[in-house]
Amino acid sequence: MSVSTREKSAENAAVVSTNYTKHFKKELNVPFNISVWKECRKSQKGRVFTNVSWRYEVIQGLKTVNAVCSFAFKRHAASLRDDNTLSGVILRCEGYCIFSNCNVTFVCQIDANLQLHARFQGDVCHSLTEKASRYVQGPARNELKKLLKHKNPRLHHLEMLQNVDQDARESGCRDSCPSKGVLKQIR
Ligand SMILES: [Zn+2]
Repeated sequence: MSVSTREKSAENAAVVSTNYTKHFKKELNVPFNISVWKECRKSQKGRVFTNVSWRYEVIQGLKTVNAVCSFAFKRHAASLRDDNTLSGVILRCEGYCIFSNCNVTFVCQIDANLQLHARFQGDVCHSLTEKASRYVQGPARNELKKLLKHKNPRLHHLEMLQNVDQDARESGCRDSCPSKGVLKQIR
């Protein structure tokens, strides 16, 4: 290898990124499921929902524009139940991506017509060696628990891994495929 070729390969190696990045639309506007809303409303204590199903609904919405981040919630507040004003916000929540280098955050509002509006900030940046998945809770956890009664967690993990789509695979996001350890715990 000549000196100049060697220098060139060193240069190429230097620009190979160790991070996964992706552009996405920073705004979202989708309908929110009314039956999930009603269930969560029943669980309201003060301004907080104890039923966590709303989180899955919000995340499903967020994932339509950004399927590669793994989201967690920081806080949420619902309007009070006897507040019947037809305009205004009935739920506000905010959160972030759990990948250590990623600075994506979001703020969501659900209006009285059950429209979910979300606004993101920041850019996707995941280390290529990092894998992350959302904490499995609520209905998703119950479903898995039922399934794993008759199924080996390791086997189920491998099956789910095969169905992880390419974006999620490259970005390290394993929301649709919790680890074997997590599946064992859920069982
Ligand atoms: Zn992210």
